[in-house]
Amino acid sequence: METFAFQAEINQLLSLIINAFYSNKDVFLRELISNAVDALDKVRYETLSKGSAASELETGELAMRISGDKDALKLIIEDTGIGMTRDELVKNLGTIAHSGTRNFIEAVKAGNADVSLIGQFGVGFYSAFLVADRVEVVSKHAVCQDAYKWESNAGGSFQVGEDSDSDIARGTRIILHLKEDMGEYAEEQKIREIIKKHSEFSTFPIYLNVKRTREEEDTDEEDNKDTNDNEDTKDNEDTKDTKEDKEADGDGNIEEIQEEDNNNKENEKPKKMRTVEYFEYEHLNKIRPLWMRKPDEVSAEDHAALFKSLSSDWEAPLGVKHFEVDGSVQFRAVLYVPKNSPVEMFQQKKKKNIKLYVKKVFVTDDADQLVPDYLNFIHGIVDSDDLPLNVSREMLQQNKIMGNIRKNLIKKCIEMFRDISEDKDKYVHFYKKYSKNIKLAVHDDSANRDKFTDLLRFHTTKTVLEEDDSMKSMCSLSDYVSRMKDGQESIYFVTADSVDSARNSPCIEKLTKLGYEVILMADPMDEYLMQVLSEYHEKRFACCSRAGLTIPGEKTLEELDKDHEKIIKVVKEILGDKVHRVHMSNRLVQSPCVMVTDSYGWTANMERIVKAQALRDSDDFMSQYMVGKRIFEINADSDIVKSIESRIDSECKDVISQPIRNLIGMIYKTALISSGFSLDDQIGYAHKVFSMIRAGMSGNEDIEGNEMQSKPEHVDMPADEESMMEQVD
Ligand code: ADP
Repeated sequence: METFAFQAEINQLLSLIINAFYSNKDVFLRELISNAVDALDKVRYETLSKGSAASELETGELAMRISGDKDALKLIIEDTGIGMTRDELVKNLGTIAHSGTRNFIEAVKAGNADVSLIGQFGVGFYSAFLVADRVEVVSKHAVCQDAYKWESNAGGSFQVGEDSDSDIARGTRIILHLKEDMGEYAEEQKIREIIKKHSEFSTFPIYLNVKRTREEEDTDEEDNKDTNDNEDTKDNEDTKDTKEDKEADGDGNIEEIQEEDNNNKENEKPKKMRTVEYFEYEHLNKIRPLWMRKPDEVSAEDHAALFKSLSSDWEAPLGVKHFEVDGSVQFRAVLYVPKNSPVEMFQQKKKKNIKLYVKKVFVTDDADQLVPDYLNFIHGIVDSDDLPLNVSREMLQQNKIMGNIRKNLIKKCIEMFRDISEDKDKYVHFYKKYSKNIKLAVHDDSANRDKFTDLLRFHTTKTVLEEDDSMKSMCSLSDYVSRMKDGQESIYFVTADSVDSARNSPCIEKLTKLGYEVILMADPMDEYLMQVLSEYHEKRFACCSRAGLTIPGEKTLEELDKDHEKIIKVVKEILGDKVHRVHMSNRLVQSPCVMVTDSYGWTANMERIVKAQALRDSDDFMSQYMVGKRIFEINADSDIVKSIESRIDSECKDVISQPIRNLIGMIYKTALISSGFSLDDQIGYAHKVFSMIRAGMSGNEDIEGNEMQSKPEHVDMPADEESMMEQVD
């Protein structure tokens, strides 16, 4: 063996690794497996590109084998990859420092990187010393006759020499002599766990040597048997296989076997059994990377299996998108919409569920920028050859390729949602789970707003709530637009705390009467949504609870106001600053009045939502400037209003009479309630209403109720309103 000194920087690196107080040492296995995959890839590439000229490469399966021995503190990782020549062992593993070495050392010292990022700097091999105090590498390059061994305890030097005992046909065997406290890395469970996390979808099989036991007959030739144990194991396995094959063959064969079994039973004597331990290689990463296959070759069952393993969901996904992008960026991906959304989806900033692979090697499941927040429910895998294998978080954040992948993923998700929407029942299920995500997308993603808007669904005044599932009847905006009446310019909508209260809102009385369809919005998120949505297919959205609503063929407010200047003036004087303006209304049919808001600021519904949120915070939270300016609209056709108008004429010559003040105060408060605002003094209001009811029940001739029934065109309020109604203060 010849001794070589480690290059100075590598020495520094090694001492850093050995002394690192670093808890996650698992990374070493990922790094060694990723090196093995590279070496195997090289063989695959050579055989593919050279064909028969690479005949020397045609030995054996391209695979990795791992075996651990906890008692001996030994972990062996071997591959049938390209292997290393003697010179390569010397160069690659100690004498030539990769340019990343210095960067890595500096980054760790400056606290900008931890040891888990070692692979990103191209020095992953040395992470073996996180868990081992001595490492042997035996390697045979495909074109070499001999195998060579590299060995080091990281003490400043390494040895390289021929290994004449080696049984390696081609490839590399890395033997880690584990540190005393690192024995767990030789345990089957630990190895399984790391492989599942990092290398489950490696394109090459990873076999783990596992200990098994079986019961077998204890015969007299025990001694004989023990010496041939290995062979026996194999024979037994073979017999087992043939038997299973036979059983699977068909009915006839099953009978045959049963007959054999019966014969055996007849000759049965009590047998002495013993437990025999044996080892066999188990294929760990059985789930082949299905995203590497052609999409039409992957069955729904395969997708379900992969999805379940990714998401720990128990049901098949609701939507699948499997595709390859081959443009300015190349990558393959498979995306899934889970049937069961996690409960905590909106409770905290949830981690994304897309795993990033580079050249089939898992890189991270924490690439935040792969998809936007609103797609945090999507599970999937992205595999790109365009990214460097060892890509750091920072690199991911700035990487143009990542931006490109993100754009494509959003596009494909939209396609997947559209596919789901073609099946009505499926889409109802989807919308129940993810409507908030779609709304968030409309709000946040201006570039894709139109596409996400197409995916929205709403109740309207023309959809009937079905009893078994109220969401079934929801319709899209394009359905709405297709049903718009001739001459209808706007998409009418109203927001409230429930579909029913939206449906009964006074703001839409006239529209409904005239046969216009109105969208009923009852989700708090709809308010936020409508802050960014101004039109759809060139039709403007018109909020029915805001000022300036135009209804085709109806008089404008100015025209209406002209004939009712007196009542407008009186009402404004009574209500003062409580309202910004008073108008006659063109949107009411039965209701005498309604409170709407200006085009800016919060609607009544938004005020309610913000107040509910503010309960958790301080009272000051209700910032006044966002509260919409209130506009009080009066319905000239209402009997109550007509009655008030005539009383104003007779009672209010120079000053406004107290009964009129009280009356206006009462209808103002009632309008606040029917328009979705909250009353500051609800109890006081309730008392007034009770007093009115009491007065009504006392049979007083002037009582409103009696009068209303007999003479609906003229309404008188109780004579002693003062005792029943509070003043507007
Ligand atoms: P990186 O893999 O990022 O280049 P490493 O420090 O992990 O850095 O490995 C250094 C080099 O050693 C590799 O580039 C490769 O040439 C060689 N090497 C490591 N492991 C193997 C292996 N299992 N088979 C063949 N070559 C290997």
